[in-house]
Amino acid sequence: MTRRISIFGATGSIGESTFDLTMRAGGPGAFHTVAVTGARNTARLAEMARALRAEVAVTADPGCLADLRARLAGSGIEAAAGPAALVEAADRPADWVMSAIVGFAGLPPGLAALRHGATLALANKESLVTAGPLLMETARRHGATILPVDSEHSAVFQALTGEDIACVERVIITASGGAFRDWPLDRLARATVAEASSHPNWAMGQRITIDSASMFNKALEVIETREFFDIAPERIEVLVHPESLVHALVGFCDGGLMAHLGAPDMRHAIGYALNWPTRAPLPVARLDLGQIGRLTFRDPDPARYPALRLAREVMATRGLAGAVFNGAKEAALDAFIAGRLPFTGMAAVVERVLARMSAQSGLGNADITLDNLCDADREARALARECTGARVD
Ligand code: NDP
Ligand code: MG
Repeated sequence: MTRRISIFGATGSIGESTFDLTMRAGGPGAFHTVAVTGARNTARLAEMARALRAEVAVTADPGCLADLRARLAGSGIEAAAGPAALVEAADRPADWVMSAIVGFAGLPPGLAALRHGATLALANKESLVTAGPLLMETARRHGATILPVDSEHSAVFQALTGEDIACVERVIITASGGAFRDWPLDRLARATVAEASSHPNWAMGQRITIDSASMFNKALEVIETREFFDIAPERIEVLVHPESLVHALVGFCDGGLMAHLGAPDMRHAIGYALNWPTRAPLPVARLDLGQIGRLTFRDPDPARYPALRLAREVMATRGLAGAVFNGAKEAALDAFIAGRLPFTGMAAVVERVLARMSAQSGLGNADITLDNLCDADREARALARECTGARVD
């Protein structure tokens, strides 16, 4: 039977790679595409919808609907817009769903896809950070499967295949160290958006690239590891590995370490999720370790990367702390991109919001419902905006 697929966030960096792999695998001849979604890039969304002969194309932005409709004229493909339309698209049953919307907005469609028992290829790490227990429980209840697409988590998942989780002593996820790994610390406060938006190894969307420079991305990934694999926080380590060829390592109780290596190309992790539980050839570069010669590792510097310490606080609190952390981070990142906050101010703002919201309410004890998560997210963003108005640095 033809596999039914949907790609949420199709016009982004992960979405483009997913589209590339599905087209190489035969496109509309190999898959029945239910939905493709984007936000502002309606030209590309319409092109993808036509190429895959999707049932529906959805833009997150209602202001873009008329344009999307015009671009799809005569194709027979439906057009829709807005957050509710994204969830409606996820309510159309599909076997395999790529969750590659950026930010908290990816959570509601991901949950809807799981409620229909889909295999959810999860690039949207914010879903696990904000709503880990809800996501995993929804998958369990509906017999759905979540496959990690973040390269480190795909690596851990692959290293764990056939292993007993009870024998895992530690999980080590690597970090390139981002754009500023070798900058003098006192220069970080003056880092510009353009400087933070250039990654030494990976080509990714702008937001995750800046989050790599601040290691907020790695902080999210530590929490993602905790939630996805149910590993105790003290067993999760971060290692700076500037070459970005070893994506993660799993340490077992007998002292053995299983590492996963590959070129820094997200099509590996996406393709692994697309072909799982089997493997198929992928158009990614093969590593020539003899040529590469050496791989280097070092511990992260806590003064350079305060986000890692904040992730530990979030894991100690759990409950709604992940939603607060992520919401405050997204608002702080908006402020940095808009020039309202220095690079080093992002961690300061997130720390302040976490402290204020922890003091006010029992973040750790609240029920993890979508409503509570949305409220926590909204409040965290509002507080962060208040802080950025006051120019915290
Ligand atoms: P991009 O910014 O490149 O793409 C984001 C996608 O989401 C686009 O399709 C965009 O539409 C859409 N979008 C933007 N805002 C909204 C919204 N409010 N509601 C619905 N859709 C929206 O991001 P990436 O592809 O880099 O990242 C996607 C996810 O994958 C993130 O969670 C990221 O952390 C994760 N990830 C990414 C990696 C990478 O290599 N890029 C690696 C590991 C994880 P449009 O462009 O049309 O405006
Ligand atoms: Mg990653």
